[in-house]
This record gives sequence, C-alpha cells and structure tokens, in this order.
Amino acid sequence: MGGCHSYASSSGSVKEGEEFSDITGHKLKNYNTQAAQLSLEERPYLMQDYVSERLAELDVRTLTVLPVGFDEAEWMASHTIAFFKHINLFSSALSEFCTSGTCPTTMGPGDVTYYWTDEQGKKVKCSAPLYTDYTMSYIQELLADEEVFPTKPGYPFPNGFMFLVQRIFLYLFHTLAHLYWAHFRDVVRMEMHPHLNTLFTHFVTFSKEFQLLEPAETSQMEDLIHTLYQHHRS
Ligand SMILES: [Zn+2]
Repeated sequence: MGGCHSYASSSGSVKEGEEFSDITGHKLKNYNTQAAQLSLEERPYLMQDYVSERLAELDVRTLTVLPVGFDEAEWMASHTIAFFKHINLFSSALSEFCTSGTCPTTMGPGDVTYYWTDEQGKKVKCSAPLYTDYTMSYIQELLADEEVFPTKPGYPFPNGFMFLVQRIFLYLFHTLAHLYWAHFRDVVRMEMHPHLNTLFTHFVTFSKEFQLLEPAETSQMEDLIHTLYQHHRS
C-alpha cells in the first residue's frame, strides 16, 4: 500500500483543475451555489423516501457525548475503531460496484475529487477502489500500532493523537461521501440505505461533537446532513 507519513499536510479534496491553495473558499462557495443547483437525479440520497429511512430513532447526540468519568482519548479511540470497522464493512459490501472502470477517480458530491497523499507528501489522483485500499490499509496500520492506539492499561496516547484521529475521520468521511455520491442507487438496491443513513448520522454527529472535521471538508455533504437532522430530530 501507499503509506502516508506526511501528517502535517492536509488531505486534499478539490475540484478538477483547481489550485490547491483555494480549497476552502471554493468549497464553501460551491455548497452555496453549484451544489444547491444539483438535481435530485444527481443526489438521490436527498429523496424523501430514502433520507427518511433509518434503523431506529436513536438519540445519537446522547450516544456521542463523553460520559462523565470517561477518558476522552479512550472514548475517541473506541469510536474510531468502531467507525472504521463499520465503514470498511460497508465499503467491502459495495466493492463489486466500485471498480477502476466505474470509478477511475475518487469522486464526492459535486464531482469533487479526493486525492491520496503518498509517502513523499504528493497528492495522487487514483481510482476509488485504490483510494479505498490505500486509506483503509493506512488506518488499519495506525489502529494496530500500539504506540498510537495503546491497548495495554497505563500506556499513554501519543502527542498528536487527536491530529491522527482527525486524519482518519477525514478519510472515512471521503469514503462515505463517495458511497453516497457514486453508489447510492446500488446502496438502495441492496436495501442498505437505512443502515448507511444511521451510520452516517452517528459518524457526523460524533465528528461535530469533537470537532474532528473542518466545516470546509464536509461542505459538499451539508445538504444531506441538514436533511437527515431534519428527518431525525432526537
Ligand atoms: Zn466508486
């Protein structure tokens, strides 16, 4: 796999042909203008019949808030592992639909392209299955690293732990955004959309609670986030 040790560089998600330096401004603008003009045909995940479906009316906010007496880093670690496992499972279940032929680049809502950052810190455009392979392998390696995610009692979490968690959440968010944007019809055919909506709502709520994702990074999905919250007030 392509490793990624350039933790300081942000993982890019930019429109085709756009300068990297103008990512934030453009994406906010993109949500306010272009994204708002995208049709439901392009974003079937916003259709009433689909967005209203979730596994159960759960109070996800209560589920995410750090309980009194819990260690925050432990809480982060356990959720990071759980979200990784669930999102990886989803991705695997849909892998037959996401090939280098169907997805030669890794696209999210509004045809934003997600780039992998290689070991030299260079942004690389790759197919969605390759991007998924890189990111999931990268995350799996981190989770298995006792120095990053210690499992033995008394071993401390490293400096920069939160930064790594943020990076993992960004990759997981890209994976979910790609599934919604490129494969939502496949998700519906497999009747997995209630599961996906539940997982996405929990993931986003947790990310917001602990400020794990920059608003500029999630802006392409704010329409769905807003609609899911409207349908599932808890
Ligand atoms: Zn795909």
